[in-house]
Amino acid sequence: MSAYGYEAPLRTMRFVIEEVLAAPRQWEAIPSFADLDAETAAEVLIQAGRFASQVLLPLNAVGDRQGCRLEGGRVRTPDGFPAAWRAFVEGGWPALACDPEWGGQGLPQLLNAALFEMLVAANHAWTMYPGLLHGAYETIAAHASDELKARYLHKLVSGEWLAAMALTEPQAGSDLALVRTRAEPRADGTLAVSGSKIFISGGDHDLSDNIVHLVLCRLNDPAQGEAPAGTKGLSLVLVPTVLPDGTRNTLGADGLEHKMGIHGSATCAMRYDGATGWLVGQPHRGLSAMFLMMNAARLHVALQGLGHAEIATQNARRYAAERVQFGGAIDRHPAMRRTLLDGQAMVEGLRVLMYRAAMRLDEAEHLPDAARRAAAAAEASLLTPVLKAFGTAQGFARASAALQVWGGYGYIADYGIEQTLRDARIAMIYEGTNEIQAIDLLQRKVLGRDAAAFEALLQDLERDAGAALAGQVAAARAAWAAVRSRAEADPSAPLQVADDFLAGVAHLLLVWAWQEMARAARRCNGDDKAWLAEREAVAEHGTAWLLPQADVHWRRVCEGMPLAPEAA
Ligand SMILES: Cc1cc2nc3c(=O)[nH]c(=O)nc-3n(C[C@H](O)[C@H](O)[C@H](O)COP(=O)(O)OP(=O)(O)OC[C@H]3O[C@@H](n4cnc5c(N)ncnc54)[C@H](O)[C@@H]3O)c2cc1C
Repeated sequence: MSAYGYEAPLRTMRFVIEEVLAAPRQWEAIPSFADLDAETAAEVLIQAGRFASQVLLPLNAVGDRQGCRLEGGRVRTPDGFPAAWRAFVEGGWPALACDPEWGGQGLPQLLNAALFEMLVAANHAWTMYPGLLHGAYETIAAHASDELKARYLHKLVSGEWLAAMALTEPQAGSDLALVRTRAEPRADGTLAVSGSKIFISGGDHDLSDNIVHLVLCRLNDPAQGEAPAGTKGLSLVLVPTVLPDGTRNTLGADGLEHKMGIHGSATCAMRYDGATGWLVGQPHRGLSAMFLMMNAARLHVALQGLGHAEIATQNARRYAAERVQFGGAIDRHPAMRRTLLDGQAMVEGLRVLMYRAAMRLDEAEHLPDAARRAAAAAEASLLTPVLKAFGTAQGFARASAALQVWGGYGYIADYGIEQTLRDARIAMIYEGTNEIQAIDLLQRKVLGRDAAAFEALLQDLERDAGAALAGQVAAARAAWAAVRSRAEADPSAPLQVADDFLAGVAHLLLVWAWQEMARAARRCNGDDKAWLAEREAVAEHGTAWLLPQADVHWRRVCEGMPLAPEAA
C-alpha cells in the first residue's frame, strides 16, 4: 500500500494561476512584477513543492510523535525541525513576498499563497513558525519607527530571526478588550512590559537565536493620557527575546500546552517580567495596527484548510485505487467515488478562490492606480473572513470524509490521515474563531460600513454569469435583504444566522470558481485533453453535488426562527 505522501498539485496550481485567473496578465500591469513570467513562477512552485515533499513531509509524523519539550526553561522542537528551518532560510523562502528594500524577493502574494498551501499540506506544525513571521513583518513594516524597522526587518525577512504574536490571555480570547498585560514607560524611552499570555505559538523554540514578540497590552503612560477602556485602549509593543546589546530580555515560556494536533508547533504560556520593548504604531491603536496584517495572516490560515483538504483527498484517492473489497477497488463503489469527487471539487474550487484573494492583496499593494488599489483591498477584506472560516471548516470536513475512505485503518495512527484530521481542527479556532469571522462578515462587511464591497463583488460575479451562478447571486441578494430587514427590528437578530450567511457566500463564490475552471478548461488548447476534460468534470460535479447545500444556508438566513429563549 502506498505510504501517506504529498505530491504538490503543480499542474492544477499552474492551471489556476495562468488559465483561470490569468495572473501573468496582472503581473504585466504591475511595475514591480514586470520581470516575472509564467515560466519563472512555475519554477518557483516546482522548487517549493520539492521542499515540501522532500524536507517537510518526512518530519510531519516525527513532529507529531515527539512534540516540543521544555528543557532548562527553553523550548526544544522535534528532531529535524531546526535543520529544516536552516534549509528554508538558505533557500531564501522566508523572503519570497517581502519588500526588496528589506532583503525580500518582492514576488507576488499569490506565489507565497501557493508556497504556504504546500508547506502546510506537508507539515502544518513546522509551517506555524514561518507563518507567524509574515504577520510580524507586515505589521512592523507598516507601523514601526524607522529605527525599529532598520533593526528588525532585515533579520526577519532573511529568516535569521523569527516572530510571535502575543494577544491571548486566560480571560481574553475572542474578546481582546479584556487584555491586562501592561506596558510602563521608562526614563530611557523604552517600555517595561509585564503580564502573562497563553497559547502563544512559537513563543519560544530553538529554530532561531532571537524571537520578536509583538505583544498586545495596555499602555500606562501619563504623557499619552489614560488608555481608553476596551479594544481602543490597546497598544502593540515589540519585545525581543534578545536585546540589542546581546543580553536576554526578561521573558520566558512558563509551560507548553499538550494539544490535540500540531504537536511540533510550540504553543507557549509566556511570562513578561518588566521585559524591555518598543511601541509599534500609535499609543492605544494597537489593534488597528494589527488589522493591516490580518487579511494576509487570515488568508494563510485559510490556506491551512486548503492544504489539509488537498493532502487528505489526494491520499484517499491513492488508497481507494489500491484497496479491494467486493472484488474491485473501492474507488469504483459509488459512495466512495462520490466522496473522492466531492473532495476534489471542493479543493479545486477553494484553490481558485484563495488565489483570487491573494491576487487582490497584490493589487491592493502594488497597482499604480489608487482607486483600483482601494477596490482590491476592499474585496480582499471581504473574501478573507469567508475563506478563513469556510476554508478551515472544509479542511477538517474533507479530512474527516477522507478518513472514512480508509475505513478502520483511517482511525489507526500509523496511516497518516488521523494526524491530518487532528492537525486541521485548530485552524477553525485561532486567528479569530470561525464564529468571529462570520460576525465580521455580516456586521461589518454586509450590514455595516463596508457593504459597498459586497455590492461590487455581486456585480462582478453577475457579469457573464451562467445559470447556476446567476441563481446564487439572486439568492444572495434575497438573503441580504432579509438580514437587513431583520437588523432594522433588532440589530442582534441576524447574528444567529451569521455562519449560514458566510457559508452561503462561500457557495456563491465556489460556483463562480467552478464556472471559471470549466470555461478555462474549454478554452485551453493544451495537449492533454483528458486532463482538461477532468477539470471540467470536477467543476460540474461541484455544481451538481455540492451547490445544493447552499439552499439550506440561504433558507435558514431568510426563514430562520428566533432561537429558543434562555432558561430563566
Ligand atoms: C494551538 C493554538 C495556537 C494559538 N496561537 C496563538 C498565538 O500565536 N497568539 C495568540 O495570541 N493566540 C493564539 N491562540 C489563541 C487563539 O487565538 C484563541 O484560542 C482564540 O482566539 C479563541 O479564544 P478562546 O480560546 O479564549 O475562546 P473564547 O473567546 O472563550 O470562545 C469560546 C467559543 O465562544 C465563541 N464566541 C466567543 N465570543 C462570541 C461571540 N461574540 N459570538 C459568537 N460566538 C462567540 C467562540 O467562537 C468559541 O467557539 C492559539 C490557540 C491555540 C489552541
